[in-house]
Amino acid sequence: MAQKYDVVIVGAGPAGLMAARTLGQAGLKVALLERKKDIPKIHRSCGGVLNVNELTFNQMVTFDEDRQEIACPTLGYTIHYDGPHQNVFGFHLYSPGGKRLEFGDFSELRKDPKKNRLGVALSKELMLRGLLEASEKSGVAVFPNTNVCGVNKTGAGASVACEDGQSFEGKFVLAADGINSRIARTMGMNKERSFYGTTRDVSVAIEGTDCPDPDGFLFMFTPQYVLSMIPVADRNCYHLYAATSGRDDKPPEMMKYFMQEDPTFSKWYKRSRILEHRTACIVSLWSPIEKPFKDNVFFIGDASWRREMSNVGSMCTGFKVARCIIKALNEGKTNQEGIQEYLDWYAENYFGPFGARKPRGRNFNQYLTPDDMDYLVQLPGKRLPQTLDIFKVVNLIGSTYSDLMERVYDERPDTLERLMRVRENMDEDIEKQVKQGFKNI
Ligand SMILES: Cc1cc2nc3c(=O)[nH]c(=O)nc-3n(C[C@H](O)[C@H](O)[C@H](O)COP(=O)(O)OP(=O)(O)OC[C@H]3O[C@@H](n4cnc5c(N)ncnc54)[C@H](O)[C@@H]3O)c2cc1C
Repeated sequence: MAQKYDVVIVGAGPAGLMAARTLGQAGLKVALLERKKDIPKIHRSCGGVLNVNELTFNQMVTFDEDRQEIACPTLGYTIHYDGPHQNVFGFHLYSPGGKRLEFGDFSELRKDPKKNRLGVALSKELMLRGLLEASEKSGVAVFPNTNVCGVNKTGAGASVACEDGQSFEGKFVLAADGINSRIARTMGMNKERSFYGTTRDVSVAIEGTDCPDPDGFLFMFTPQYVLSMIPVADRNCYHLYAATSGRDDKPPEMMKYFMQEDPTFSKWYKRSRILEHRTACIVSLWSPIEKPFKDNVFFIGDASWRREMSNVGSMCTGFKVARCIIKALNEGKTNQEGIQEYLDWYAENYFGPFGARKPRGRNFNQYLTPDDMDYLVQLPGKRLPQTLDIFKVVNLIGSTYSDLMERVYDERPDTLERLMRVRENMDEDIEKQVKQGFKNI
């Protein structure tokens, strides 16, 4: 016999927990199913940075350390947070020779960090634990160590089957089971989506770096790979990531080369200490789901998206869907009409502006020489506007460099030719990436 609830949530990441807390506090009968035993513990790579003071999917989030509060004035939720944090000011890109393209002048921005930061690196574990405790306090029934294997339509809603034989029935089910959503796959949602390949990420936390301005989201182009670094909540600590979609690449070896052998970047890590075991993740790159609702199941957070929607983006979907469900149930509309508000909001803020974009390969270093990249990175000769929004970065790079192409043509025709090949081969390269991926349908 299925255990009956108003709402059954699968997955207790930022999206599922935010939905659980919101629904529980409204007095609904909610079950939260999560396959991890210790729910807030982070096993999968995540920087733990919250985007603040800049719109994320048109939503604004702020952080106030004095009030120990994360707030989303756009949607109207707050989260208590009393753990450590580090400020993050924006992106910096480094070429193989160490030339830098800066999005914002960190030395100026640091003078008023509360106003100028665009991210705060938090303890994600602590933040999730707070959301979990608030959910439990409001009466949400939490089922850790519960692996969901399928969801089926029932007369009045949907039922959820678990590997241990338990089943749960809800008027609505929330699939908040992350980027490689099993529910999206088993319910046939991926049939409508384009597949762009599979990436593998490995990250380590390190203490100390001699990198200039490390309080940003840094991308480092080596002659072969791209690595990235971002602060962790604890002072003077950072996450270093190696990511690849190439089947033959080995992220731990990429990282070892980067920290120990690369002539430019290994200098940053001479005094670094690796702090914890590696985290890793595999990401299936599917295009976002256009209509994240089927048979009374909502797909929220990363379960509906192409790559990471971000912690802020995911929590906002969890909160918004919960508010819409509360309204639908109050009005007795457990059908399409009742949930249309969520679909319209998602279309306006997520899928409409960002959903149709195709991922672009980051394979400049397969075509350009290290010298080309050094030349191109210093070419703008100025800082670009501060941002921690990857969509904005791509647009800013596009507009800045399209204005400079004539100069590249005059000064470095060979570089321009190689740059044109990056563009010409974009679709072919994506095809290669798809072939090397694991479609897992
Ligand atoms: C390398 C990397 C770095 C990142 N860094 C940042 C960052 O600094 N800042 C940022 O904002 N975002 C970052 N992200 C993205 C961020 O981690 C995600 O967008 C966010 O965690 C998505 O939240 P979610 O709740 O949708 O999914 P998840 O956090 O993935 O949660 C899904 C939950 O569902 C559970 N689950 C899955 N399948 C089942 C099942 N069958 N049964 C039961 N439970 C299940 C999982 O165990 C998990 O707890 C990063 C991502 C990666 C890959």
